[in-house]
Amino acid sequence: MSQRLEGRILCGTGGFYYVEHASGLVECRARGVFRREGLTPLAGDLVRISMASEAQGTLEEVLPRRNFLTRPPVANVDCLVVVISLTQPAPNWQVIDSMIAIAEDREIPVVIAVNKSDLMDAEAVRDLYAHAGFEVFVVSATAGTGLDPLKERLRGEICVFTGNSGVGKSSILNALDVNLKLPTAAISEKLGRGRHTTRTSVLYPQADGGYFVDTPGFSSLDMEKAAGIAPENLPYCFREFEPYLGACKFRSCRHGSELGCAVRAAVERGDIAPSRYQSYLSMREQAEEAAKY
Ligand code: GDP
Ligand code: ZN
Repeated sequence: MSQRLEGRILCGTGGFYYVEHASGLVECRARGVFRREGLTPLAGDLVRISMASEAQGTLEEVLPRRNFLTRPPVANVDCLVVVISLTQPAPNWQVIDSMIAIAEDREIPVVIAVNKSDLMDAEAVRDLYAHAGFEVFVVSATAGTGLDPLKERLRGEICVFTGNSGVGKSSILNALDVNLKLPTAAISEKLGRGRHTTRTSVLYPQADGGYFVDTPGFSSLDMEKAAGIAPENLPYCFREFEPYLGACKFRSCRHGSELGCAVRAAVERGDIAPSRYQSYLSMREQAEEAAKY
């Protein structure tokens, strides 16, 4: 009789899933039922497998997910690390706030990493997001400053890094854990490295528990396109708006130019950052446009 085990998918490629369990790593094929039901197992999924031999298994069941993203495809994310570069490239608030809103919509905790602090003073950006209610870590991946507290915070968690190209995601990942490698060389070989490989997420075990998720080939733009936040949920994806959401003159308030809007009043008083409000307005427009179709 075959042995049954629970484990976690570290990555999937070419119809194979690599599942880490208590005593090793096993290559699995998914049962046909997943395809018929349109369920795609994802990296990060907790699964039940049956083992035909020590190295070969079958994926029998995907256990309930706490959350998931489709681009990049990953399940059970503990933390979305939004990387902001202070300069080179300068912050794109719209992209940053979209990433954050998507995480809020999916109930994924957010950590902000403000990078390149060796090139520019980080105080204004740190205050902007700390004031909005986020955990902010100021780092420099290349100078090696501020990384220990971030590493401490992410320990034990499944962490996805996002941010525009060039903000320093790979540099931070490398600086946090110089030994980003999979438990077996065999998978690394199958995955290959570089741009031409399959677009898939890979969970790399952290030295002290948890995982850093590498998502080669996925950009923050991919994430944005796949978001699909309902317009009526959007205000709740900006956490510092919450105290004001019941206080507008009209219950139907969209927090734009409406009369008696408590959110806009908070922006005018300086209690909500103008850049956050602008991001909300653009996202609102996009969400309403998308909802028409
Ligand atoms: P990614 O596209 O987000 O993965 O960004 P990379 O990690 O490839 O970094 C893009 C560029 O920014 C590289 O040339 C890095 O050396 C540089 N870089 C990354 N972090 C820092 C930093 O903290 N300070 C400075 N000055 N440059 C950095
Ligand atoms: Zn309003």
